[in-house]
Amino acid sequence: MNPIFSPPLYKQRQQFVIDFVKENKPRKVIDLGCGECSLLKKLRFHREIEHLVGVDINGAKIKKEMHELAPVSTDYLQPGYEQLCVEVYQGSVTRRDARLRGFDLVTSIELIEHLTLADVEHFSAVVFGYMTPVTAIVSTPNSEFNPLLPGLSGFRHSDHKFEWSRAEFRSWALKVCSGYGYEVEFTGVGEAPQDQQHSVGFCSQIGVFQRLEGRDRCRASLSDDEEDVFSYTLLYCINYPSLRDNNILRRAVVSEVLYWAEQIKNRWMEEKTGKKNDAFTLCQTEGRMEELHLEPHMEMEEKHTEELTSPVQHCWRALPDNEGPEGDEVLWTNSSNRCVSVPLAVLWSFCPKVGELSGSLGNLRHLLMDEPAVKLSQDGSSVLVKYQEQDQEEEAEDLEDSNYAECSHSAEQEEDWEV
Ligand code: SAM
Repeated sequence: MNPIFSPPLYKQRQQFVIDFVKENKPRKVIDLGCGECSLLKKLRFHREIEHLVGVDINGAKIKKEMHELAPVSTDYLQPGYEQLCVEVYQGSVTRRDARLRGFDLVTSIELIEHLTLADVEHFSAVVFGYMTPVTAIVSTPNSEFNPLLPGLSGFRHSDHKFEWSRAEFRSWALKVCSGYGYEVEFTGVGEAPQDQQHSVGFCSQIGVFQRLEGRDRCRASLSDDEEDVFSYTLLYCINYPSLRDNNILRRAVVSEVLYWAEQIKNRWMEEKTGKKNDAFTLCQTEGRMEELHLEPHMEMEEKHTEELTSPVQHCWRALPDNEGPEGDEVLWTNSSNRCVSVPLAVLWSFCPKVGELSGSLGNLRHLLMDEPAVKLSQDGSSVLVKYQEQDQEEEAEDLEDSNYAECSHSAEQEEDWEV
């Protein structure tokens, strides 16, 4: 059958939920009859959601794609403060499970028509009487639209137990409302041609149910003495990286500290040797700067960076001008250890992300303590960054070059042998 909707109907249904989420920002969301998790995969990018759950009776279907719910590399590289836990359960919507109570939004997209009418009653009791979400979005085919679907005879799917007219859906929905304390609005997706819209309605009819008492009723029902039931099987669970997790926060702080300490060291080397290494310093710094400019809290920094070419210079200019590196308390080298000492106070004050992530200087020290990647001075007030004199660096580079030459030579030989 040729698609008669653009975008396809299933996408319009998903978009309806996504638009609702964007507007209402629910924190806890369940998709009942989640199938291959396609709606969940889209919803996980809406980071107002903290807890995202899918349920389907068909475990094989869930397992097909559930691993695609895992965080992507940017979630690890640039974690935010938002938290997200994703869980997928195998279970039937006709049975109760205490872990699914107290959610803000429950969606049931093209699911109820797969249940017998007796099970629809159980579904109503479980969803509206037990889970008691603040909002429930229920979609189901509208049988009045069927004559407009080319080549269709009978139901739209062989597994459908019924397909309701608008009046039948309305009758069920109003019964739910009076029985469980909800109100409902009717809408839908998949429009009929203009002259038939009124007579046939939408292809998929949708009821948006709102709990009448708001959140309080849910809290009351959560605290009652009913025994907890756990009838679902957890198939998948993942916590997204968040800066609220201390280990993730520490990792982010360490990465920023190492980056900026290295930049300051390079700048110091330039000043000391009079040799500029612009290619390295500027390109590295600009990359970071773009990232930093995205942050609203950087307004102050942006002002500074108008005058100074980079935060490295910003840091650098903050250091006392007149003191030489040797024996300088703020930035000094120790010839035996070959280290540049970058004070934590400088990193904290002038490297914006370091300050933002750590909150206070004390906390910064605390986060870096016992961190193997960061070498702190004995009193814990500075980061020690290894450096090499320029001539030594050149020697090292020469050495590397000669090693490389040897390596590439043998690689060429191998290629010849293969030929
Ligand atoms: N909601 C998805 C969507 O819109 O693409 C999938 C809809 S699919 C037509 C119906 C889904 O409901 C199937 O994945 C099926 O396994 C699931 N289902 C059927 N009976 C169920 C039940 N009693 N409890 C939970 N899921 C059920």
